[in-house]
Amino acid sequence: MKRRMLFLLAHPDDETFGPGGTIAKYASEGVDVYLATATKGQAGMVGDPPVTDREHLGEVRAAELLCAAGILGIRKVAFLGFEDGQLLHTPFELIVEKAVEQIRWIRPHVIVGFGPEGVSRHPDHMVMSRVASEAFEAAADPTRYTRQMMDGIAPWATFKLYQFEIAKEILALWNVPLSGVPGGKITTVVDTSAQVDKKVEAFQCHRTQSKDSRRILSREGYREFARRETYVLAKSRLPRVSLPESDLFDGISDDDGA
Ligand SMILES: [Zn+2]
Repeated sequence: MKRRMLFLLAHPDDETFGPGGTIAKYASEGVDVYLATATKGQAGMVGDPPVTDREHLGEVRAAELLCAAGILGIRKVAFLGFEDGQLLHTPFELIVEKAVEQIRWIRPHVIVGFGPEGVSRHPDHMVMSRVASEAFEAAADPTRYTRQMMDGIAPWATFKLYQFEIAKEILALWNVPLSGVPGGKITTVVDTSAQVDKKVEAFQCHRTQSKDSRRILSREGYREFARRETYVLAKSRLPRVSLPESDLFDGISDDDGA
């Protein structure tokens, strides 16, 4: 079985600032890693000093994401085509439909998205958390989005849905206004210690967001923190799971899924 995973996120840089080490780890192990991002980040910062103007920001940030994807080893990036900062005002079903199309096309064994508060509480992240949860169900349901099936795409039941989270205890140490989960809620700790350099290198691709990069990378003990990335297993179709675990593919055997 060729293992496949899909990261379902909101903006260019979410992949690097968040689960970048996990992406690089699985890609280096031969897993086909896909990323679908809802927007091109066209409402974000233009750089400090400016790298581009607002009119071209979406294009530039899409290119920055492809740069990071190359470093992290992502096989393909899909831009779902929604407006940055507007996901809360976009019909929910429309975003779910696009996400379902990606899931049915990629047929991932594992999906990774945001937790309910999306780490930063960015409304787009919070919407994408709900989108991932709904799309996980809908992609497997032959009665949903039947129009897609006529394009030769079939329903697909992904085994597990994870939410990228950071333990509150770590955020408290940094004294940053991010939203985490109590450490005890973390179900899965991925060892990304061999990927720290790659993750930091991918940060450099996001030149327009260099202010954020500098802030994040200068947090005390950041490189030590980046040696692990943590998740909550939100949904599973496996007959049983054994928690805590250290591998997002835990419990999925090589015979499972085409
Ligand atoms: Zn974001």
